[in-house]
Amino acid sequence: MSRAFGESNLVVETDPIMAEPVFNRERHIKYFLRCLKTFLPGLYTSNDSNRMLLAFFAVSGLDLLGELYNKTTLEERQGYIEWIYHCQVPSGGFRGFTGTNFGLEKRTITNEAWDPANVPSTFFALVILIILGDDLSRVKRLECLQWLPKMQREDGSFGEVLGPHQKIEGGGDLRFCCFGAGTRYLLRGKDGDNLKEIEDIDVDKLVAFIEACQTYDGGIAEGPFCESHSGHTYCGIGALTFLGRLSDNHKQTALLSPGTEGFESLVKWLAARQTSELGDEEDEDEGNSEPDESQSLPDQFGKIHLEESFHKLANLPTLTTQPIKYAGFNGRCNKYADTCYSFWNTATLAMMDRLQLLDADRNRQYLLEKTQHIVGGFGKSVGEPPDLLHSYFGMVSLAFQGEAGLETVDPVLCASHRAVQHLHTLSWWK
Ligand SMILES: [Zn+2]
Repeated sequence: MSRAFGESNLVVETDPIMAEPVFNRERHIKYFLRCLKTFLPGLYTSNDSNRMLLAFFAVSGLDLLGELYNKTTLEERQGYIEWIYHCQVPSGGFRGFTGTNFGLEKRTITNEAWDPANVPSTFFALVILIILGDDLSRVKRLECLQWLPKMQREDGSFGEVLGPHQKIEGGGDLRFCCFGAGTRYLLRGKDGDNLKEIEDIDVDKLVAFIEACQTYDGGIAEGPFCESHSGHTYCGIGALTFLGRLSDNHKQTALLSPGTEGFESLVKWLAARQTSELGDEEDEDEGNSEPDESQSLPDQFGKIHLEESFHKLANLPTLTTQPIKYAGFNGRCNKYADTCYSFWNTATLAMMDRLQLLDADRNRQYLLEKTQHIVGGFGKSVGEPPDLLHSYFGMVSLAFQGEAGLETVDPVLCASHRAVQHLHTLSWWK
């Protein structure tokens, strides 16, 4: 225990490895309630078109805390459900926000491309409805399932929206593959009964595209021949898991089969993402120590006497895991830890049944001591203010580790098991 800021100061720093970090549940409830029921800070303005995603984080965050049904009224929850249905487009699927909606009476075949359904927003809209206990009876299910294959490109990947002349626009990376496969999972049901007349997506092409995204180091990239990235890795494995959970997709891909080169190299890459490089103040100080430029390089070389230099070297402690107190996750090699990567990596390991490989204690120390914010929520990294995305993903990573006060979470749907159970009671899921 050491006293900070001199003798007279009462602030006492305790050794973080000694102190049990606390998940500040009450503050997180307040944070998510504030985000759900009051205005978001101005920095979210540029995310107006992503409102469905923000709604997902706010509603699902309270659900994970087990307080959605305690802290919101029936009328409020009904209001949220109505807003989501208001975002459904007549031809199937959901828009991400109401800003493009120009009204049913003005909508025509020629102008509907300017108010399109959006693949990620459709997935999130359906998941929020399920979390809120809706029975999806007002979802244009068949229209949505007919729209989905139109969003798939020749190479198997998915776009974001259908533009003018039914042209697939946006997307192309694994995020859209995951939301496409997820929407199919939600609406098709376990057996896809009574859907023989409805054209399905091309599952084989989608699987082949995802497999082509695995790189030489075992990780999965946004597209073939790109750099491995934990977010896209999560989306690739998520899409394959969605496909594998439906009974008409028995064929298990190598990426989900233990013992194969693809599976084992991916597990190794994911486990190697855990890092004690947090990018906090100490690291920055090291990075800012500019070399002394007052001396020219030849001068500096001239002063080197090997014997003396050895003598001056600092005594470094032997490298053991003991001094490492915090270890979060990065998303790519040589990057600092970031709260959301505690989710992307551990959720993928959970889907691959390899969650036991992470250092759960040090991940918890990192999240609770380094990025959990005093006002509730989690920031992106050390010293950052909280935001909805990192607050939600920080909590989910802790939920995988069995944090008290959090519901258990399904890693692929990224929502509580309670919500998934509700999905499975729907008529086409039974
Ligand atoms: Zn992040």
